[in-house]
Amino acid sequence: MEKELQRIREAAFHELEQALDATALNDLRVKVLGKKGELTAVLRSLGSVSASMRPRIGQLVNDLRLDFEKELQAKQEAIKEAELNSRLAAEKIDVTLPGRRRELGRRHPLTLTLDRIKDVFLRMGFDIEEGPEVESDYYNFEALNLPPDHPARDMQDSFYITDQFLLRTHTSPVQVRTMQSKEPNTPIRMIAPGKVYRRDYDATHSPMFQQVEGLVVGPNIRFSDLKGTLEMFCQGIFGDSVKVRFRPSYFPFTEPSAEVDISCVICKGSGCRVCKGTGWLEILGSGMVHPRVLEMSQYDPAVVSGFAFGMGVERIAMLLFGIDDLRLFYENDVRFLRRF
Ligand SMILES: [Zn+2]
Repeated sequence: MEKELQRIREAAFHELEQALDATALNDLRVKVLGKKGELTAVLRSLGSVSASMRPRIGQLVNDLRLDFEKELQAKQEAIKEAELNSRLAAEKIDVTLPGRRRELGRRHPLTLTLDRIKDVFLRMGFDIEEGPEVESDYYNFEALNLPPDHPARDMQDSFYITDQFLLRTHTSPVQVRTMQSKEPNTPIRMIAPGKVYRRDYDATHSPMFQQVEGLVVGPNIRFSDLKGTLEMFCQGIFGDSVKVRFRPSYFPFTEPSAEVDISCVICKGSGCRVCKGTGWLEILGSGMVHPRVLEMSQYDPAVVSGFAFGMGVERIAMLLFGIDDLRLFYENDVRFLRRF
């Protein structure tokens, strides 16, 4: 009987050491101390033990039970604490870590530039008009005094969709659409910003780029109005000290036509790499609306006259921000975009 108790003790304590969680501990307790447990079985068989041995065996069983219960409780507490510790470790928050920075978006340099351009013209009382990017040959060319056999059509390489429709090569069709949407000879003062498309790709050309078209029509609109308006625009964008000059040029839809230059924003006119030593930078094209263009839109050149202009938004953004490769605007490199 003593040997049997010794075996139970060794096995129980060995299993106690191996037990890893509360369930295993409970199973072990039932196995040793439960109604059908090993120790209980020993107590039940005490009747068959000789009377002289009985107190001794009883004492041994009692000792074993007390020792085992004590160890069991200690182990239970150890497991509880280990579980708590691992849960705390999993939920641990290091309040000394730096916070995660929330990245803010920002406006694209071309959007910033376009907003500035719009702002200058809105302050001069201009409206903003829009037109479709897929345009008919009629609006893109013909109504702007560029009939099918006109040599100036070769000035622009166009993306045709069908024989009659193309991606507009300039925002000038919006001039025609605006005039045709109004009663004949209604005065107009508008700009039309938008995307245009040409077959071109290098450091200063992109197949898609943005233009701002302008049109002013009314009684007695003169070339001096054109000059005054565009001078105010250039100063509004590049500052009051910028000088503006007008050079004779040719566009099929204006007569006379002029290219507009500003004094170089880099060297202030003394000559540098950007202005190729001339001190001047070409910035937009302009002219008095060709009488034929007015007539085609039911405006009477004997009653009204007007001027028109067109500029590239990328070109102005490049000069404003000192960027020498237009392709940067469309590569979406965040290192570039973060600078604005
Ligand atoms: Zn220069």
